[in-house]
Amino acid sequence: MTADAPSHFVKLNPATGEPLQSYACPTEAVIAQTVAQAQDAQTTWGQSTPRQRADVLKAIRELIYQQAQNLAETISLETGKPLADALEADIATALNVLSYYAEIGPHQLKSKWLKPDLMSLATGRLNRETWYPRGVIAIISPWNFPVAIACSGIAATLMAGNSVVLKPSELTPACGQQLIGLVQAGLTAGGYSPHIAQVLVGDGSTGACLLEQPLDGIIFTGSERTGQRVAETAARRNLWISLELGGSDPMIILEGCDLEQVASYALWGRFINAGQACAAVKRLLVPAKQEAALLDLLKAKIQQLQVGSPQEKESHLGPLISETQRCLIDDQVQDALRQGAKLILGGHAVDRPGFFYQPTLLSKVPPQARVLTEETFGPVLPVIPYHSLDQAITLANNTPFGLTASVFGPAHEAHQVAQRLQCGTVVINEVGPTNYALACAPWGGWKRSGAGFSHGAAALTDLSQRKVLSENLLFTLPFTRKPLWHFNQPSRSPGQRSQTVLALAARHPDLWWNPQRWWPFWQNRPSSKL
Ligand code: NAD
Repeated sequence: MTADAPSHFVKLNPATGEPLQSYACPTEAVIAQTVAQAQDAQTTWGQSTPRQRADVLKAIRELIYQQAQNLAETISLETGKPLADALEADIATALNVLSYYAEIGPHQLKSKWLKPDLMSLATGRLNRETWYPRGVIAIISPWNFPVAIACSGIAATLMAGNSVVLKPSELTPACGQQLIGLVQAGLTAGGYSPHIAQVLVGDGSTGACLLEQPLDGIIFTGSERTGQRVAETAARRNLWISLELGGSDPMIILEGCDLEQVASYALWGRFINAGQACAAVKRLLVPAKQEAALLDLLKAKIQQLQVGSPQEKESHLGPLISETQRCLIDDQVQDALRQGAKLILGGHAVDRPGFFYQPTLLSKVPPQARVLTEETFGPVLPVIPYHSLDQAITLANNTPFGLTASVFGPAHEAHQVAQRLQCGTVVINEVGPTNYALACAPWGGWKRSGAGFSHGAAALTDLSQRKVLSENLLFTLPFTRKPLWHFNQPSRSPGQRSQTVLALAARHPDLWWNPQRWWPFWQNRPSSKL
């Protein structure tokens, strides 16, 4: 651990700016001990059957369901998001992902027979693909959906038979502790060690120290900048890693849309969670001739949004997570204004305690402005006009990120646009953040938005090690004891046999469905002398 690592940190209430609680950061010895306990506990957990693990996941789901209100209150207090969002976006997603892996895990992790292969060097084989746990997985998570994101990683990690050490964001430590408390209760109820899932509360230096321990993999969700450092550590240590990073996601409105309807989608897609969502609508592209009408609609809708304490039922938007985050968003907005953007609404902090920022609407934003070139993690919506579909697609792809995009319009045209967008998910006639709630859909970014997947069967198999079991059935048969390619054949010079070997390798997929094609092979078969 570096000498400048803090021994404590204080978590502030984002809605008031007042301290909520002080936390001691774990020492290097505590971090090492936690990982050692996780290694130890994993040996038993890894030998359990997928069905037994599915039962534990269901038990965890029930505990979270029963404690949903308590957990939501902690989320709301620590993040500043309204209680309804904590319940419906964060906790509901966590429950859904636990259900999903409990359901697909036992099937997905069954060994699978592979399609027979006629390649001559490997003829006569029975091949099976089997799955084994990796070992100890560190999950480093962000604060914006502190339960949904951590739980997505935990559900897939545990289902695959690994143990987990969660390092939640220092901005949501109690969410991480409470979540792991419920996971441990589910594990112990099933007769398993609580060390299979543990939590280390600390800041980035705790995360960095955790990554130096004897781990078997890392799931990192966070900013592109930190992700880059974490990826460097993983590469140096040759560790498996999944990276879920930031985005600058476009929403494209095609011609012929009901503007009133799409404005409502854009409003929610941008301002949910006070704009602090990786897949939020961060750039809104609209046909130039509809720009003015759309801006009027958005302005009217944004004016109706209530910014206020997350405890007040009327609030649509709470505060931003921290003063640092509020300053960053304000810097990005002021940069756009300096470069000639037009401010239609908002553009400054709300004058009250806490880290509130006004929902902001911008137009005429120059392409080099930071709100377009960087991720904007706050309530700022730039509207960009386009003159042709090609231009819209070029503008949408003109970003180093590639997390999600959304396209609104007639389905056929929207699908054609979707084909040309460079990102991990394209949502048609819906906005990006909703897709994170889909446990079945692999979630991952292109370009600098990440590598690897959370959710879907892909996450489960990525968290497992494959082993192929390949058995030579010819070994025990008396008439095939000497394969054609062994040294003890009379001739090894390339001749007819080699031609047959090549033809089998190149053509054998056709042979399966068209038996007539066997005939030339039979006619030209290698001589029986070979
Ligand atoms: P962050 O990068 O600041 O922190 C993420 C986590 O990394 C925290 O737990 C932090 O303590 C830890 N950390 C910091 N430095 C570290 C280091 N050197 N080594 C190891 N761990 C370290 O991100 P954030 O502000 O918490 O989250 C917001 C970002 O996350 C946004 O960019 C957002 O787009 C992204 N995000 C992405 C997804 C996705 O699915 N792609 C989901 C949610 C959030």
